[in-house]
Amino acid sequence: MSPARASRPAGSADGTSRAVVLFTSDLRLHDHPPLRAALAGAAEVVPLFVRDPAVAAAGFAAPNRLAFLADCLAALDQGLRERGGRLVLREGGTVAQVCAVAREADAADVHVAAGCSAFAQRREERLRRALAADGRRLHVHDAVVTAVPPGRVVPNGSSHFAVFTPYFRRWQQEGLRVPLPAPRAVRVPAAVRSARIEPRSAVGGVSPELAAGGEAVARRLLGSWLRHGVEAYEDRHDDLAGDATSRLSPHLHFGTLSPVEAVRRARAKGGPGAEAFVRQVCWRDFHHQVLAANPAVAAADYRTRQDRWRTGAAAEADTEAWRQGRTGYPVVDAAMRQLRAEGWMHNRGRLLAASFLTKTLYVDWRIGARHFLELLVDGDVANNQLNWQWVAGTGTDSRPNRVLNPLLQARRYDPDGGYVRRWVPELAGVAGAAVHEPWKLSPRERAGCGEYPEPVVELADGLARFRRGRGLE
Ligand code: FAD
Repeated sequence: MSPARASRPAGSADGTSRAVVLFTSDLRLHDHPPLRAALAGAAEVVPLFVRDPAVAAAGFAAPNRLAFLADCLAALDQGLRERGGRLVLREGGTVAQVCAVAREADAADVHVAAGCSAFAQRREERLRRALAADGRRLHVHDAVVTAVPPGRVVPNGSSHFAVFTPYFRRWQQEGLRVPLPAPRAVRVPAAVRSARIEPRSAVGGVSPELAAGGEAVARRLLGSWLRHGVEAYEDRHDDLAGDATSRLSPHLHFGTLSPVEAVRRARAKGGPGAEAFVRQVCWRDFHHQVLAANPAVAAADYRTRQDRWRTGAAAEADTEAWRQGRTGYPVVDAAMRQLRAEGWMHNRGRLLAASFLTKTLYVDWRIGARHFLELLVDGDVANNQLNWQWVAGTGTDSRPNRVLNPLLQARRYDPDGGYVRRWVPELAGVAGAAVHEPWKLSPRERAGCGEYPEPVVELADGLARFRRGRGLE
């Protein structure tokens, strides 16, 4: 800390007011309260993104998310340039870099969106202290990453809602701001240097069919979803082959789309499909408020059931077959292969694949959650870990013994087998629902299925033999 800095009030030496906006999970220009506040209070603003090695070390930097992030940063830079500004990219520890940029820009104020994870909460606290020691102020803005901030809607005497339906009821009564327009102009101080913003092609190991990122893509997707998709959402959201969900999750994850705007525009559209869609977006806020109140549930059971998960060579071999999409249960394998090919999986696929690992194979949910986080472009601690816990029965599900039988799920949600044929090429020649039970095919038909494996386990009621009689309902 320089004595000169500490002894004079924050503000630039040349009299120009300046502020820094730290972008994190909010990579957009529309409906961005921190940017709006910074522009209202300062003549020049540094839009900053920090590539922090601690994020990579914590396992958050999977190739699919890095590639999508590259798109988002390039688009953000482009959007800022169209407004006379640019994005400043720095590499290093977030706290040190923000302080360095604030010093270089002689900025009195730093604005950031409130985060929900333990990682984000710790970072915010360290940043507040470091900036204060330097005579600067940190402003933390709510309702940027979620529609309703964690902690806003709580039951009496508790830090968070543990059950979704009462949370949803209260969440719906919360007023949401009118979405803010994107700024017309952003003036960035010339002296602040930036690292090069690498294109997506610089990232290796990316899923071949990964979607494109960036705010313009997100806005087009939301527009066309509200015009053409959402109406049928209530009826078709579970149709695996129909692929009739919004696919907005990576955009909500990276914040190229504001959840407030998505909810407001869906409500304005109205109808049962839009209502069902808003309810799903509420699940996202629900998990964020559970995580914000209990950061430990990223790794620890929310409600432990004293599971003695299978371990050892057989469990490891089953898990590897699951990861590779080679369990011999076609609908599970289709879902796991979609994940690998697209870095995204249909929600019904996530449910049945996670149930297969935790309930059928009785493998620890943390192992499955880790694999999903390695591949999911929308993978985040709140939604991934807490959905895994919901499925595994250690989370907020009020029916923790629920088991999703892969065959019943396949017949119900992929009745013609189109989803399986799309993702499991060995079975592409098997017509209709027969594709779900390749072990019933005639030897001649079976010979046409190439190397497709036999089932890793035999099932009764969705459970493998070793799993039965272990306290399930
Ligand atoms: P839509 O059906 O169009 O729903 C709209 C939005 O609502 C989604 O974009 C998403 O933001 C939110 N949403 C929908 N369902 C859920 C849900 N169950 N929980 C929380 N938010 C929801 N979602 C993630 O965003 N990141 C994850 O890491 C993640 N991991 C999951 C792991 C498992 C085991 C399961 C069962 C679900 C997981 N989900 C996760 C939730 C859900 O599967 C995805 O959000 C959804 O499939 C994304 O597709 P979509 O955008 O087309 O969703």
